[in-house]
Amino acid sequence: MNQPPVLLLVAIPLPPGALDQLGPVVETRKADTPWGSVGPVARRRVGSGDLLVLPYSGSPSRTDPRATIWAARAWEVQRILGWDTGIALSPLLRRGEIVLLDDYIDQTRRQPNVLFEDRAPGWLPPMPGFCPEVRGVLAAALTDARDGAVYLALDSSRRETASEARLFRAWGADVSGQNLVPEAALAKELGLCFGGLLTVTEVAADLPQPPARGEVREATRHIIEAIPRVITALPSVRRCLCGAGQREGN
Ligand SMILES: [Zn+2]
Repeated sequence: MNQPPVLLLVAIPLPPGALDQLGPVVETRKADTPWGSVGPVARRRVGSGDLLVLPYSGSPSRTDPRATIWAARAWEVQRILGWDTGIALSPLLRRGEIVLLDDYIDQTRRQPNVLFEDRAPGWLPPMPGFCPEVRGVLAAALTDARDGAVYLALDSSRRETASEARLFRAWGADVSGQNLVPEAALAKELGLCFGGLLTVTEVAADLPQPPARGEVREATRHIIEAIPRVITALPSVRRCLCGAGQREGN
């Protein structure tokens, strides 16, 4: 039986053809949703699974997060993997470091953060911000990644000030980014699994700023090489550790 496709949201600019090593594009798809159309996404055959790739950058003008998650379900996706770039708030993280996310703090102000506005607050039980099962698969495929980090979700095009960086760190945030939340929360409403990883492209405003030495490019190549192992290792989602697959008709 075919596995459902995995949706990869790629919020990092990639050079042309960077994904071709994953396998041929066998189809492109679009979806119409109540919040606008999504796509085209390229479906690639990767190892024994199917991968849908949606370029996903430019927050806050990106695809409406509700449309993204709605489209994922229309495409029978059960697992979404969000790959963001972001800023290291932890002084232990370097530029080019790959970070596997376990939880988030939502400080977005301009993003819709629910799909079902008529549901009572708290209709979903507490769940991990990002799927621990996906994180485990990523950790096995990316052994030099930082396994476990708190993601601060922002949607301002302005960089943080040094004082804000200290505040965010005091909250317990390790990195900040703009493209994984509210998507991770909306996915839970539909019973979809959402895993998150991030490539550090900058360090916080209050830390020393070392010159770039191609670390981000190297990390990007490393992640693309690991994707087939991740897709192959992701088991069926029926009842995932993040609680996905147990609601909304999944
Ligand atoms: Zn999960």
